[in-house]
Amino acid sequence: MGVITIEDKKVRVNDGCVDCKTCMKVCPEGVFMFQADDERPMCDACPVMCRIPDGAFGACKRYFNEKGRIVRKARLHTYEEIEDILGPKDDPAIEKPLITGIGSGTTYPDFRPSPFIVMGKREGIDVVTVVTEAPLSYSGIKLKIDTDLYMGQEGKKIYVRRKGKRHIGHLCTEEYGSKMLSLGGVNILTSKDGLFAAKVIFEILQGKTVKLEIEEGATIELTLGRPPVVNGQVEERMRVGCGSATTGLFAPYMYNAADEVIILDGHITGLFTEHPSGRYLNKTRSGISIKGQKSTDGRYFLNKGNGWGGTDITNPLDVIKDIDMSRCPEGMSLLITETTGRKYAFYRMKNGSFQEDKPTPEALRFLEVLRDTCEPSNVSAVFAAGVGGSARAGVTKNPIRLTRAVHEGRVKVTIGGARPFIFPGGGINFIVDYNKVKYGSVYLAPTPSFIIPVEYTMTLETFKEIGGHIDAIRDIKDLKK
Ligand code: SF4
Ligand code: SF4
Repeated sequence: MGVITIEDKKVRVNDGCVDCKTCMKVCPEGVFMFQADDERPMCDACPVMCRIPDGAFGACKRYFNEKGRIVRKARLHTYEEIEDILGPKDDPAIEKPLITGIGSGTTYPDFRPSPFIVMGKREGIDVVTVVTEAPLSYSGIKLKIDTDLYMGQEGKKIYVRRKGKRHIGHLCTEEYGSKMLSLGGVNILTSKDGLFAAKVIFEILQGKTVKLEIEEGATIELTLGRPPVVNGQVEERMRVGCGSATTGLFAPYMYNAADEVIILDGHITGLFTEHPSGRYLNKTRSGISIKGQKSTDGRYFLNKGNGWGGTDITNPLDVIKDIDMSRCPEGMSLLITETTGRKYAFYRMKNGSFQEDKPTPEALRFLEVLRDTCEPSNVSAVFAAGVGGSARAGVTKNPIRLTRAVHEGRVKVTIGGARPFIFPGGGINFIVDYNKVKYGSVYLAPTPSFIIPVEYTMTLETFKEIGGHIDAIRDIKDLKK
């Protein structure tokens, strides 16, 4: 909030502090300590729970203390108000290609017109579709692997064993319940291992099972459309949310499941009775405190690893840091589970320590609801490539005009009829859901490059304006005959 000053080596917190405790988390010297100031109203719109002074904003600059009342200080917007930011509306005449590039062939060298440039009428407008099978060396796949199982550190290399150890990609960010892998890309495809990488990617696209190794991480077996296998373990279900989200989603079930519930998770581990959802339901705070860096009440960051929920905890009770016995009476129940409910353990306090016990029907009911909400785990792929280079020359003698028209929405690019997402900025870089591309319509040439069907669809007027190969136009009716 800009309220911390340092003068004469003294740290001072000035007026305007909202008690978000961020400084406590980041200060290497541990100089910050706060007492909740009950005079200031608390914002309960997120787990930070800011205490906001009169006439000021909370940490996210959204909620405001207006004479003691916390309000969202903004105006609700209609869709029409933001429509112009979204760009021009889709033109139904050019939404779909007249034909696809599947089976169209390639013209080489690139400056020659694409194999098929066809014209037809849509919505009473002359429409042109240019199709080709484009060989793309700037290409690869991103794999989405639905699992919480630990695979390794982000940025680590991915190898395949083919006549030695071949570097074919890297482990990217972890998304919500999934790990993302990048395989291929021009730098790998043109490296000494490039042909091996291309072959493995092609096998994946063909639906074959491939075995990959992550540097200092897991060995994985992947098949498109099937559950992943991580270190020999088949992952059946993907998470419903992080440990905190699970706590928030299922709080009413957790309330009855046990006196304390811990959701072990490599993203955020949830401690129910401390979590705002437990407090909201007036659940009595237990005497259990857990390991990890506290983010906000009831939400903790644990180390990642091969343990429960993608943490490094292999014995669930090891997550407990301290027990205040005055608030953990004999007979107290404790449920520890992963976000998927796959692994769980139920305990009761007996003779001063937690001992494993039979779960109550309420605990089993919560676990059943949790498991039923988790979707099946899957391996899916998007194909990532760029048609910003020579792949434009078959459309026009003036490629920059084509690129501009694509970004202006006047030319629609499709991949075997499937609509890709085109990245903003220069060039025509896209990702497309491989599941939507007809099976068998992607080929591999040993340059190495992947050959994919591409269609550019636009009005005849746009085609002329971007310098399209007018002389190569054929009538769609004649072509269909
Ligand atoms: S609690 Fe938040 S607002 Fe207050 S000094 Fe620390 S970081 Fe700044
Ligand atoms: S929503 Fe914003 S103001 Fe409210 S507690 Fe969270 S960070 Fe603070």
